[in-house]
Amino acid sequence: MSEVLSANGYRKVFDDDGGMVVVRAGRIFDGETVRSGPAMVITCGGVVTAVDVSGAAAPAEALVHDFGPSSTVLPGLIDAHTHLVLDPDGDAPSQLTTDSDQVVLARIRANAARALAAGVTTVRDLGDRGFLTLDVRDHSSVSGAVMVPHIVAAGPPITRPRGHCWFLGGEADGAGAAAAMIADHADRGVDVIKVMATAGMGADPALAQFDRTELTLMVAAAQAVELPVVVHAHAAHTIADAVAAGVAGIEHCTFVTAKGVRRDDRTVDAMARAGVFVGCTVAKPRPDMPAAVLATLEPYWTNQAYMHARGVPVVCCTDAGINPAKTHDVLPRDLAYFASHVATTRESLVSATSLAATACNLGHRKGRIRVGMDADLLVVSGDPTVDIDALTRVQAVYRMGRRVPAPAPVEAAG
Ligand SMILES: [Zn+2]
Repeated sequence: MSEVLSANGYRKVFDDDGGMVVVRAGRIFDGETVRSGPAMVITCGGVVTAVDVSGAAAPAEALVHDFGPSSTVLPGLIDAHTHLVLDPDGDAPSQLTTDSDQVVLARIRANAARALAAGVTTVRDLGDRGFLTLDVRDHSSVSGAVMVPHIVAAGPPITRPRGHCWFLGGEADGAGAAAAMIADHADRGVDVIKVMATAGMGADPALAQFDRTELTLMVAAAQAVELPVVVHAHAAHTIADAVAAGVAGIEHCTFVTAKGVRRDDRTVDAMARAGVFVGCTVAKPRPDMPAAVLATLEPYWTNQAYMHARGVPVVCCTDAGINPAKTHDVLPRDLAYFASHVATTRESLVSATSLAATACNLGHRKGRIRVGMDADLLVVSGDPTVDIDALTRVQAVYRMGRRVPAPAPVEAAG
């Protein structure tokens, strides 16, 4: 079957059986570099089977989606820090201590679908309730009624009794209880262990929830079940403890001390040497932000840029769900903010594609457009390698080679 579709419309949402689909665009960003086209990505059975920039003809049997010379095809974006259980407009402690599993599952699916429609084809969920995000991960088919991104799931984050995000259910009183919880998480099939190593920004972010000895025991417990550990850490001393303990990633990495934000360059160098990922959750000033939090923003961004320049792998991510600005489709807009503070436009795209894939242990499947890798693709109008706002002009999203149905257009009343 062959069908040529215009840039604006399509008669057929996806091919029926994972058959051959050709995506044509003006250029390609492959997860590392941009190449001018005409670009052609051939997908079959959910994976990329060929990439061409010579202007070759598409195979006669293929379904061709041609987005025109001004478009760019790139890997689907990866948001390495989300909370699918969180309603950005809701009160998390009350919702997550009272909502039924059915309500939370419906929220996870809706949030995931919203991310996917914006071109986020993979999410790493770092804070779940009751392992419900794993349920959606395991019971979503790419051909199902509601398509969702590929999900990497941590389950409930491990925290102190009544500590940061206690309401997600991961309370552990000390390293022994935490190690037992890590083994249980592994039995339930999590992909990564998330530890709340300090309090949250809204509380006392310099306060450690676990010390170096406890973090070391938790990393050992995770290694025993072959899982990486990422920690939520604002405090400078806890970041140093976590790096010494051998964690794979530090989320936020704010370097808060009793005297304000004070970056610790020896720890930064240790992170660069060990390849410890930073999850740079994009934080922008908001009118309702407490003054103490607002004061951390300028040094936060300075430090993220410094770490990137020193060779620390800094992954732009969102913390989607945590406040009204953090809708589950915010990554393209957050990435533009990251590009204006941390890295070049091209490097920022690398951060949210190939680098994020590596941080999520998916570098062999996701984050690049290469033969044999998953056909998770985003097509946008314009060239995001020079104008990152082009990411918000979505023309099409593909998940495992299947085109994600566009949201229904809103009809004018009357
Ligand atoms: Zn978070």
